[in-house]
Amino acid sequence: MADDWAESRGPAAEGLFGTLKAALLGRPLRLPADLLAEFPELAGARWRVGGWGLGLRTAAGITLWRTVWLAPEARLDPRLLLHELRHVQQFEASPLFPLSYLLNAIGRGYRRNRYELDAESFALARLAERGRPSPEG
Ligand SMILES: [Zn+2]
Repeated sequence: MADDWAESRGPAAEGLFGTLKAALLGRPLRLPADLLAEFPELAGARWRVGGWGLGLRTAAGITLWRTVWLAPEARLDPRLLLHELRHVQQFEASPLFPLSYLLNAIGRGYRRNRYELDAESFALARLAERGRPSPEG
């Protein structure tokens, strides 16, 4: 049905649809292989660039369930990616996470809510781990 819709309106409409879709949903992002080799757990999230909300330029990343939207100008910084990955894990840990996050943010503010602090310490701990020599090396 979706294909029929695009076909019946020709390439111009498809272009407009594509533009709208990209504005709302961003576009899929394939993480570089070297980054995935170093942090294989990043494959556990769906990564996208741009999309709704990020036009406001208030956040480098937004996570909703398993999908992370990165701001178009955001660098693929492992600290940011690991931080957002932790939010994916928080979503997976409880169906009440969105509500709990909101209540925490209202009570403590965005930066100091416990889920942000948890995401930040998760990212830093993982990065610190990288600096350590591996057991075999
Ligand atoms: Zn965060």
